[in-house]
Amino acid sequence: MNTDLLVVGDGLAGSAAAIEAARMGASVALVSAAHGSSDRAQGGIAAATLPEDSPRLHALDTLAAGGDLCDPSAVAMLTSAGPGTVRWLESLGVHFDGGSAREAAHSLPRVLHLGGDQSGSTLMAFMRSAIENEPRITRYRARLKSLSVDDSCGGAIFVGGLSVHAGATVLATGGYAGLYGLTTNSRISNGKGILEAARSGARVADLEFVQFHPTVFDGAHSFLITEALRGAGAILVDDRGERFVDELLPRDQVARAVAAHRGRAFISATHLDPELLRRNFPNFMRNCRRAGIDPLRQAVPIAPAAHYTMGGVVSDLDGRSSVDGLYAAGECARTGVHGANRLASNSLLEAAAFGRRAAAAAVSAPSVPSASRSRSIAWRRGGLTVSDVGDLLDSAAGVLRTGAELKVALTRLRSGAVSGVAADAAEMAAMICAAALARPASVGAHQRQDEPAAIAS
Ligand SMILES: Cc1cc2nc3c(=O)[nH]c(=O)nc-3n(C[C@H](O)[C@H](O)[C@H](O)COP(=O)(O)OP(=O)(O)OC[C@H]3O[C@@H](n4cnc5c(N)ncnc54)[C@H](O)[C@@H]3O)c2cc1C
Repeated sequence: MNTDLLVVGDGLAGSAAAIEAARMGASVALVSAAHGSSDRAQGGIAAATLPEDSPRLHALDTLAAGGDLCDPSAVAMLTSAGPGTVRWLESLGVHFDGGSAREAAHSLPRVLHLGGDQSGSTLMAFMRSAIENEPRITRYRARLKSLSVDDSCGGAIFVGGLSVHAGATVLATGGYAGLYGLTTNSRISNGKGILEAARSGARVADLEFVQFHPTVFDGAHSFLITEALRGAGAILVDDRGERFVDELLPRDQVARAVAAHRGRAFISATHLDPELLRRNFPNFMRNCRRAGIDPLRQAVPIAPAAHYTMGGVVSDLDGRSSVDGLYAAGECARTGVHGANRLASNSLLEAAAFGRRAAAAAVSAPSVPSASRSRSIAWRRGGLTVSDVGDLLDSAAGVLRTGAELKVALTRLRSGAVSGVAADAAEMAAMICAAALARPASVGAHQRQDEPAAIAS
């Protein structure tokens, strides 16, 4: 089928792009496979909306979190787009809870919530109904197979035979934290869009920067345990019940302490008021009980899990990649707003603001042929499965890394992939390990244990 704009991915970035393009008069094919991270977001969206706040202060916090590796012009664009993006979402019918919260490393209250701790699913319900009201958007359910790139990107081919010819393509396929064995992401967040962009000759960067959440249930059917539980007094203990870290340190430092701790780590809320737990943490209580644990009596095993990925398709302030006709927005893009580490709640803002910008640029730009070509990769046959790839990433490219482990993992990934989904996962994981190997110093979310000259973030 033919369309003006193809958008791959219907999370917040893809939805914003599709709506923006349709409102500019373009026909849009919106293709997605399953719910990604946008539906899982719990906290909210950051924007400087209070009188005492400003985009400049928001930018300073963002730059500090990024470990000196942010692109200041991208950060300025993101943070100054904050209030306008909130108004644009409201114009679509999105209803925010009142007030702003102060969270993580934000120096002022600037995180807007929707539906309490259900921000992502509430926001996406609004976005989906806005899309239903746009007759120029046609939706498809299919998995991306490959991008159609000759001199420029002219659309994509999907598993099952759907083929879309488009004047321009916006990739909004999310990140790659779902490749890890232990992850807070959906398995659809496996970097496939980034991989296909790279195979088509697009530049990708910063794949080594993976943010880990410190408290994820360590067992079958893992689930995220909110940082608010530590805020309410829950403690982190070893198997003898001894505390080994200050629970109120920033997320990265707690993740490192849990990763460096020998033996199993647990979060204990047994000393807290049962009523408070039932009232304020119903998800935690429900998930623990489903896992066969009574959190009123037992400590809950935890481990850090891959949560958010800063790397992706290198794109400019209008989402343009290095391949003509191909744009990227949201978590799959590397715009430079996050540097080596994301400031919490900036990613929903990035998805909405850059999704709109990418669509506007894609719809208005005439296509100019580029020299990029599809890359064909020869994989030797072997025995790696997707789950083996997740285990290799957990052990070699986790919170704490060494060059030796990364090299071993890279060799295994490059020699052991079979065809299809496992080959894609192995190639994407090899790209992450190669990027981590190529950055010998510790910065932001990338921590190398074997480098004496490591820079503390
Ligand atoms: C548990 C959790 C909590 C979070 N909380 C917050 C928060 O409070 N605030 C915040 O700012 N950020 C938060 N984040 C991060 C934030 O949710 C994401 O960065 C953001 O939603 C990414 O949006 P996106 O549109 O780029 O991608 P996604 O929402 O991940 O959407 C990706 C889309 O691409 C599609 N797709 C992927 N691969 C394919 C394929 N091969 N073929 C076809 N379609 C494909 C998927 O189907 C999906 O539609 C959280 C993340 C998690 C996991």
